[in-house]
Amino acid sequence: MARTFAIIKPDAVQNGHAGNIIAHVQKAGFRILGMKLTQISLPQARKFYEVHAERGFYGELVEFMSSGPSVVLALEADNAVALWRETIGSTDPAEAAEGTIRKLYAENKGRNAVHGSDSDENAAIEIAFFFSGTELVG
Ligand code: UDP
Ligand code: MG
Repeated sequence: MARTFAIIKPDAVQNGHAGNIIAHVQKAGFRILGMKLTQISLPQARKFYEVHAERGFYGELVEFMSSGPSVVLALEADNAVALWRETIGSTDPAEAAEGTIRKLYAENKGRNAVHGSDSDENAAIEIAFFFSGTELVG
């Protein structure tokens, strides 16, 4: 079993989609190991997305991610990283496949409803960024 890290971003929480997205998580076959509602601070958002610090969208991205509550999740499944990326769809909802979370719930490429880790290594780093060991089940 592998793990991935997901965020239901502020746009999706604000728009009332968190419940439907959690239902998607479970339909896709994930076991939820950790889950909490949290408002990510600006310094946390800057650190979490520091790999994108030189990109033109970075300032807007970190402002958005700290603009309201998010739901953060630690998820378990076989091939969790790839399965979650497939479940959420492309970064830009205009390019996301039918039935994916971003196709269904994202507003645009920036306010795109959910985050997903891009590797097993980053999944472990991102889970540890938001959860202590005692906050995870199993
Ligand atoms: N993003 C953006 N504009 C872009 C590319 C990305 O606003 O042109 C935002 C978007 O919220 C995205 C996040 O930055 O989810 C991280 O970008 P990445 O390329 O890692 O996409 P992801 O892994 O989230 O699909
Ligand atoms: Mg990414």
